[in-house]
Amino acid sequence: MNPTDRERYSRQILFPGIGERGQESLLHAHAVIAGCGALGSFHAAALARAGVGRLTVIDRDYVEPSNLHRQWLFEEADAAESMPKAAAAERRIARINSSIRVRGVIADLTASNVEELLGDAGVVLDGTDNFETRYLINDFAVSRGVPWVYGAAVASYGLTMPVIPGRTACLRCVYPDPPSGAQPTCETAGVLNVIVSAVASIQVADALRILTGADLRARITTLDLWKGGIRQIDTPQRDPECPACARREFSYLEETRRPPERLCGRNAVQISGEVRPIDLAKLQARLEPLGEVRANQYALRFFTSPYELTVFPDGRAIVKGTSDTGLARSLYARYVG
Ligand SMILES: [Zn+2]
Repeated sequence: MNPTDRERYSRQILFPGIGERGQESLLHAHAVIAGCGALGSFHAAALARAGVGRLTVIDRDYVEPSNLHRQWLFEEADAAESMPKAAAAERRIARINSSIRVRGVIADLTASNVEELLGDAGVVLDGTDNFETRYLINDFAVSRGVPWVYGAAVASYGLTMPVIPGRTACLRCVYPDPPSGAQPTCETAGVLNVIVSAVASIQVADALRILTGADLRARITTLDLWKGGIRQIDTPQRDPECPACARREFSYLEETRRPPERLCGRNAVQISGEVRPIDLAKLQARLEPLGEVRANQYALRFFTSPYELTVFPDGRAIVKGTSDTGLARSLYARYVG
């Protein structure tokens, strides 16, 4: 370790749980943050400050004013520019710690890119807002032996659980299938900003233990910062019938195409299956006669009341103003092709 790093991380090195050896491990580690919203933007900043040498931050969405109360990395200017969260995070992290490497990836994490994005992670932190992606992460992590830390928060409560493949129960041991029906979301139930940082902090502590090789007792932590109360229980034993970690059937890795999906509680639909790269400048020229268009290198927004389409260079789109996937697909077909 060079003298600059030794000084920079001195208070963390002094902490016996990490020490100089732990810090060395962190400096050579790679953490992937899957989803850079409320949880993920806290993960990214904390791990950058802790000196994790390489960070990959994956997010498919862009910063909006309603994110700012709880998404710690972002600023008003990011929302005003509709910056993609991954790009805004990369820019901000580089200012927090210029001695580490950070890569912002503007993409939807899917079965087709999970290998490329999570393949050499030392740990994956769950900052997603949907079960589909969590089950994908679990399948990939279990299949490749990559530890990951599940986290979720809504209203004033949240929960976390680390998964160490081969040693602890995986997500599907505990929850064999994603919950069905409507779930409370930050958009429908609201969210207290500090529950997010509390949940994310527990996830980061687990990630630091994993990356430094410290012993980790696998526990499910549930907490409520408004009503009060924190509860920790040991995760159950591994399920000998678990489809993922026992039978090694990784169905979430096999999906090759994603149908349009409703974005939880947002009256919006994401189109991500069978899309192809789009030249945003050409699209802008085509749409300008039809309505208001705002574009930068990262995304194009087209307003056609009561809908709003945001199109990304990889062809993915978010259609706001409807939760009808058929209508969203039709609007995409109508305006994007
Ligand atoms: Zn399992």
